[in-house]
Amino acid sequence: MNLRDTLNRPLRDLRISVTDRCNFRCTYCMPKEIFGSDYQFLRRDQILTFEEITRLARIFVAHGIRKIRLTGGEPLVRHDLPVLVSMLSAISPDLDLTLTTNGSILAKQARALKEAGLKRVSVSLDSLDDEIFKAMNDVDFPVWKVIEGMDAAAAAGLGPIKVNMVVKRGLNESSILPMARFFREKGYILRFIEYMDVGHTNGWRMDDVVSAKEIIKMIDAELPLEPADPNYRGEVAERWRYKDGSGEIGVIASVTQAFCRDCNRARLSAEGALYTCLFSVKGHDLRGLLRGGATDEDISQAIARLWGRRSDRYSELRSEKTVALPKVEMSHIGG
Ligand code: SAM
Ligand code: SF4
Ligand code: SF4
Repeated sequence: MNLRDTLNRPLRDLRISVTDRCNFRCTYCMPKEIFGSDYQFLRRDQILTFEEITRLARIFVAHGIRKIRLTGGEPLVRHDLPVLVSMLSAISPDLDLTLTTNGSILAKQARALKEAGLKRVSVSLDSLDDEIFKAMNDVDFPVWKVIEGMDAAAAAGLGPIKVNMVVKRGLNESSILPMARFFREKGYILRFIEYMDVGHTNGWRMDDVVSAKEIIKMIDAELPLEPADPNYRGEVAERWRYKDGSGEIGVIASVTQAFCRDCNRARLSAEGALYTCLFSVKGHDLRGLLRGGATDEDISQAIARLWGRRSDRYSELRSEKTVALPKVEMSHIGG
């Protein structure tokens, strides 16, 4: 069944958060003052089991989902993640199954993930400078270990590796060029993400956003760039390639150039709530259906109804007023 929302957008892409926990405390995502030792994370019985996730994923795939990205929190802190990957990859050989990770424990798991059927990974890294990176992850985690994780993933066949860098003014702008040079050399695709007003714990201000335009200008001045065509409709990253043929980069301009018009993405939180927008205030409980004896058909219809009613376009409407509204935390639904 081909679902369409009220703005005629199909449902193609599902992000599944497998845990709300993380071993980092990135200041823009899980600041320590909020996510400290007394923070109440979800209990084990509150999060979906692998069987429940797989059952939902199968129903979503029947609705037209072609891409599933596992995320979190940090997805690799969830025990036995390769088992879930193999269960999901068994749904359909055509499913584009990927993972976003902070890379901290990727080196150990890369081969098992590949063997389980994972297609690619995106690894987040905000600087090559240990001092800046440690100030951002706030748990004293060194850069080299993340790069070791990326390299292990590339060696395991999980490439082309994409590297996600969130840029926050006054914090890591100085890392933009060194990151571009380094990953161009390595052949990994670096993607710059505008700092977003997700959740309400990171104290976001528009002044902290370094725009995609600024980033492109800065890189182009040293390493000339030209625009490249999108790989598919609804791709969030705008692609640019180096004029000398030495690779490409991407910019995700969710703040300064909203792309709601083509947004075909749904998000499933670790406790089984469906969010139809990254900036939703509330999710729709699917766990209650799973655990309350609903049939696959009941769940399928519930999803169809939710998507059919969807009218979200937060980024296109962003204003002083919307920024102040309550929203779900990024670590809850995984970006
Ligand atoms: N822990 C994994 C990681 O860091 O890759 C997966 C979950 S994390 C929430 C997914 C992505 O969201 C990361 O690339 C992270 O940098 C990005 N992110 C988190 N908070 C953000 C914010 N306020 N603005 C823009 N991107 C953000
Ligand atoms: Fe953890 Fe990823 Fe959020 Fe950083 S961005 S705190 S690694 S979930
Ligand atoms: Fe999609 Fe919501 Fe982001 Fe717009 S603001 S692109 S609707 S997730």
